[in-house]
Amino acid sequence: MVNLRVLELYSGIGGMHYALNESGIPSQVVAAIDINTTANQIYRHNFPDTPLWNKTIEGITLDEFNKLSFDMILMSPPCQPFTRIGLKGDISDPRTKSFLYILDLLPRLCKLPRFILLENVKGFETSSARERLVKTLMECGYTFQEIMVSPTSVGIPNSRLRYFLIAKISTENSSTLTSFKILDAIPHPAESDSAELPTALGPPHPGTCQPEEPGGPVLYKLETTMDAQRKINQNHDLSVRQIQDFLEPQMQVILEHYLLPPKTLLRYALLLDIVQPTCRRSVCFTKGYGRYVEGTGSVLQCSMETEMENVFRGLDQCCEEEKLQRLLKLKLRYFTPKEVANLMGFPQSFSFPEQITTKQKYRVLGNSLNVVVVTKLLQLLIS
Ligand code: SAH
Repeated sequence: MVNLRVLELYSGIGGMHYALNESGIPSQVVAAIDINTTANQIYRHNFPDTPLWNKTIEGITLDEFNKLSFDMILMSPPCQPFTRIGLKGDISDPRTKSFLYILDLLPRLCKLPRFILLENVKGFETSSARERLVKTLMECGYTFQEIMVSPTSVGIPNSRLRYFLIAKISTENSSTLTSFKILDAIPHPAESDSAELPTALGPPHPGTCQPEEPGGPVLYKLETTMDAQRKINQNHDLSVRQIQDFLEPQMQVILEHYLLPPKTLLRYALLLDIVQPTCRRSVCFTKGYGRYVEGTGSVLQCSMETEMENVFRGLDQCCEEEKLQRLLKLKLRYFTPKEVANLMGFPQSFSFPEQITTKQKYRVLGNSLNVVVVTKLLQLLIS
């Protein structure tokens, strides 16, 4: 098979490029495009031979795209216009402009790329941007499949529910293979007809990373019985690996850099998602990890000498000093950027240039994607 020529749009730190390499598909990234200078420094550090364009996508002409003569597009358009917490500006958000530009450009390319893979947040599936994408793909003669999946379903103890669309150009001049149902797992390539994309398994009911229903009385740590039970179930799911497989050798972690400071412990103790090395779960790491606490990612309990329950039971009745003494016993720390990268499926060869700060590292990782999930989707797309 000759090398596929791949265009990586919104390339960030190269999550898509790593997935492409891991997928084993003979390929070369003919251009990676992003405007974030920090992300670009990291990309260039890891992929020095890939042409990286520090340009806005909407500033690139049809002619320039045609010259690249690519067979595949990999893209993660900005997700802020579609997040649940955001204002849901959708296609009226200026950050969607470049994506609409790509949709406008696609039918006018001299040669349509054979394959497309798009990643976005949960919320994209109900957007007008998604409607326009689907309409454009159908007009251009693509078959496609949408899948909502979290890394936990591929054995990685981290929740990061994302929307994916994989599309391939239809060889039979028909787009009847297209299914409008969103899958909630990646079908095995062998299960699908080699010429077709899989059909839907049922209505979308993505289960992970979702806020829970109110679930009974609060036990401790603002957790309900249902929360606790769900965590226990996750920790017993042997199809998912343990957190410890993704940690750096503890001797290499400068603990003082990552321990949660007393102020944070006192203020946010009840909101922390705490995991132990033997756990098989953690919550999604977002770009505010390490600075904000609520909903930005799990923290790691490094001392097992004290039971979490003993620390938290009756904590609200303690004075500040005792509260702090109790909480400090757990030795709670943030995951290091390398560990976050490990959980996101980045290979060991991935590294940061020296000048990048910890805050910047968490930020770019929070914007990136799970490499293992995308690897499997690429293998499915090509199969
Ligand atoms: N998949 C990437 C992350 C994508 S996040 C990774 O693995 O890291 C979205 C990226 O789109 C950001 O890095 C942002 O800088 C870039 N971006 C947003 N608008 C852009 C535009 N108009 N032109 C080029 N890049 C853009």
